[in-house]
Amino acid sequence: MSDRTDDIDQTHSHDIDDTPSVTCSRCDREWDLSYELDDLEVGNQSFEQFALDHMRHTGHFPDGISPWIVSCRHCPEGEEFLAASAAQRWAKTHARHTRHSIEVAHADEETTVVSPE
Ligand SMILES: [Zn+2]
Ligand SMILES: [Zn+2]
Repeated sequence: MSDRTDDIDQTHSHDIDDTPSVTCSRCDREWDLSYELDDLEVGNQSFEQFALDHMRHTGHFPDGISPWIVSCRHCPEGEEFLAASAAQRWAKTHARHTRHSIEVAHADEETTVVSPE
């Protein structure tokens, strides 16, 4: 997957030590998370929480988020996770309970399949 971020008038950095903000090109919006950091002091978690909330409300993640997408091959069950461990846990639990095989996909990784043992 190739990203075209050259035309965004903002420096993209993974070291966000200033005011953390979230952008979503699909919504064409930007949010400032500094107030959440002040209130909660949870650091990066507020970004993740925001991303999850955004996913819940809009059906997609904001920019900079590459979720782990877990989808069952046998039924409509599926979830998206920010953490690989959470995605694996969901897949294994579902496989164990239903005897289904689940695909775990990520933008930067090969798709893997979790099968019931
Ligand atoms: Zn959005
Ligand atoms: Zn299933």
